[in-house]
Amino acid sequence: NRRIITIDGPAGAGKTTVSKTLARELGCVYVDTGALYRAVAFEIERRQINWKDSALLEQFLACLDLDFVMEGRDPVLTSSGRDISAYIRTHDISMLASATSAVPQVRKALLGIQKSIAEERDAVFEGRDMGTAVFPNASYKFFLTADVNVRARRRFDESNASGIAFEKILEDMVKRDADDTQRAVSPLKQAPDAILIDATALDVSQVVKKMKSTIIV
Ligand code: C5P
Repeated sequence: NRRIITIDGPAGAGKTTVSKTLARELGCVYVDTGALYRAVAFEIERRQINWKDSALLEQFLACLDLDFVMEGRDPVLTSSGRDISAYIRTHDISMLASATSAVPQVRKALLGIQKSIAEERDAVFEGRDMGTAVFPNASYKFFLTADVNVRARRRFDESNASGIAFEKILEDMVKRDADDTQRAVSPLKQAPDAILIDATALDVSQVVKKMKSTIIV
């Protein structure tokens, strides 16, 4: 049986850095499942798909060719064989990914790819529904959160080249978290058996240390 560690939580809580660091220290791979939802949004945008039309969305999802390719340490997401990671981190893609991820067809289409990596490798999975919906039997589950102002400030500091005001980032983060939490399918929530970590006053190494203290190596 593979060792699967899940890290869920709202945007900007530090999940990515923490997940990557923990994966390194445990010698397993890091899987960014948000990239899948971002890739869907990116392709919808690029191909101008009317995703609210469920027949069109179904056709689009059937043609979608996403794959995780082992390159270097961690799997890299490709779409039709191309590495699209440079295009999926924009503010607009974040908002569209959140909107489209609420559609059950989209979530269903991405399930297989997440489960298949878990069969091949020990991994740290970062997302919103890893411990609840995708890997209910994970070896270890964490729910990482932080004060919303701290999370928005972090995003603002990361994206200062984009020219988007702090207030806008904060406002959209509140909206995205509310949408992710309130959607009908696989909403963002702490799994009953997940360990809650509030990172408001902790740095990355302190969070990783807390996590490692609960993991049996
Ligand atoms: O984690 P990241 O910010 O890249 O995720 C982008 C969006 O993708 C989230 O706001 C959420 O709506 C969606 N998502 C999801 N389930 C996951 C990962 C991401 O619904 N497991």
